[in-house]
Amino acid sequence: MNNPLHDGFGRKINYLRLSVTDRCDLRCTYCMSEKMDFLPRDQILSLEECMLIARTFVGLGVDKIRLTGGEPLVRRGLPGLVARIRELDGLRELALTSNGSQLAQYSVALAQAGLSRINISLDSLDPAVYRRITRGGELDRVLAGIDAALAAFGSARVKLNTVMLQGVNHQELPSLLRFALERRVDISFIEQMPMGETGFSHASSFYSSSDAQAQLMQRHQLIPSLESSGGPARYWRIPGCESRVGFISPHTHNFCSSCNRVRVSARGELFTCLGSEGMADLMPAVRAGDEAGLHDLIRQALAAKPQEHRFDLSQPKNTIMRFMSRTGG
Ligand code: SAM
Ligand code: SF4
Repeated sequence: MNNPLHDGFGRKINYLRLSVTDRCDLRCTYCMSEKMDFLPRDQILSLEECMLIARTFVGLGVDKIRLTGGEPLVRRGLPGLVARIRELDGLRELALTSNGSQLAQYSVALAQAGLSRINISLDSLDPAVYRRITRGGELDRVLAGIDAALAAFGSARVKLNTVMLQGVNHQELPSLLRFALERRVDISFIEQMPMGETGFSHASSFYSSSDAQAQLMQRHQLIPSLESSGGPARYWRIPGCESRVGFISPHTHNFCSSCNRVRVSARGELFTCLGSEGMADLMPAVRAGDEAGLHDLIRQALAAKPQEHRFDLSQPKNTIMRFMSRTGG
């Protein structure tokens, strides 16, 4: 690799989020609508095509891949894909984002396949609230999944993610933080982004990182830290605790200047910015096995990567019409 990927603003791009499915066993209100039209299977990247994408990006200097979705664990053969991607020369880290519902079953296989780390989404510790947010999810399954992931990976390689929702789970942020501290895992609190027509008001349930920090500081001493996990979270430390407390604040603290990532959807679309509708369709080149064509498409798309996103909650319609589950969160 003699010419690592950079975008038109000189940012080095070394992180790919690869969506292995648009399907999911949950329907979180901020992510999906109640009734979703999923892609026909023949329009979704095959495992072989996922491999080609991963190999191409790693060949271009990407050293971190996160598998996501939809829910990546509803994709059959995921541990096998993990084992194959892990073998790629030059890949430093292979991570997964999961809703945790199937981690009781798959954690050991994923650890054996060489997965580096797991982020698990957990928005509530109250079964009824969890069911409401996820439109039917069972909290017990996720808690069992978290236990299994901790046993298979150890606390340093597991992280929790919580999307903050005013009037839905915002009162629970201290309990969620305590849950993370007790298990010595990092937790990131995420500001909701207005993505897709989910039938749920993103604007009226928006809860900001600064509100969350003020709330948590009533019980804990939060000390800002300069640590980074290579993502958009800004971290805080609590004296005497191993867990880091992250805040991902796409509205209030734009992290675009250090953006190092791109996303490929399950349909082979390359999105260079979460907050922009622009994409490059990699599928024709993927299906033709045209690696040189893929290189060209990727470099052209990166040259046009937007400088920053702008989410506007004051608009009556969401600025970004595609669902988060389609892009790959
Ligand atoms: N199904 C997996 C999960 O839930 O972890 C992976 C895919 S999901 C799209 C990835 C992450 O995006 C999750 O942590 C989820 O909470 C987050 N997410 C989804 N929609 C979002 C939104 N509108 N704003 C902020 N985060 C969102
Ligand atoms: Fe599924 Fe994850 Fe979206 Fe929830 S956030 S609906 S678990 S893809």
